[in-house]
Amino acid sequence: MGLLRCPEGHLFSSRRYGSICPYCHKAVRLANDNAIDDAEGIYNDSTPYIGDLEVMDPVTGWLVCIDGPSKGRDYKIFTAKNFLGRSDSMDIQILGDNAIAKKNHAVLVYDPKKRKTLILPGDSKGLVYVNDEGIYGPQELDDHDVIELGKSRFLFISLCGERFEWEDLDDVNKNNKKDNNQEAEGENDERDKSDKSEKSKPL
Ligand SMILES: [Zn+2]
Repeated sequence: MGLLRCPEGHLFSSRRYGSICPYCHKAVRLANDNAIDDAEGIYNDSTPYIGDLEVMDPVTGWLVCIDGPSKGRDYKIFTAKNFLGRSDSMDIQILGDNAIAKKNHAVLVYDPKKRKTLILPGDSKGLVYVNDEGIYGPQELDDHDVIELGKSRFLFISLCGERFEWEDLDDVNKNNKKDNNQEAEGENDERDKSDKSEKSKPL
């Protein structure tokens, strides 16, 4: 995992946050700023960077603190498991509320197959409530559900789900490219047909 250090000295994961420090929002100046404009969004491995910059994970949703010491702050949720607690080893670090466990108070999961965000209680003592109900196993989250941890409350805001998924965007781009190629060749305007013919064995 590539770590970057911002001008203020904060260490953060470039894969998770790109080149913007999540603590102070200062940009880390890269050895080659042109890489940021890479049209494909894929950084060239041979380009020298400060640290080992990888492609940033796309966000799948947010927690927004609506009550508690971090009121007004938002926290990104990424694909797969997001461990939540006060420690800086947590994926989602909530500061200021000592009633939130240091480690694993809760786990937020975005499941790309199900296209659902779920919350699980962590292995700490702290309780997890969703819309005032105690959570003791995996629970699917709906947009604007209220999550209570320690003395703080958070809104869950979804991005990925039935209406949007980053993968679909990639498919659209691929299909657009395919369409352009097909136009150049002239015939074959039905994408479904061409997909099948590509997969079928040659006669
Ligand atoms: Zn910083």
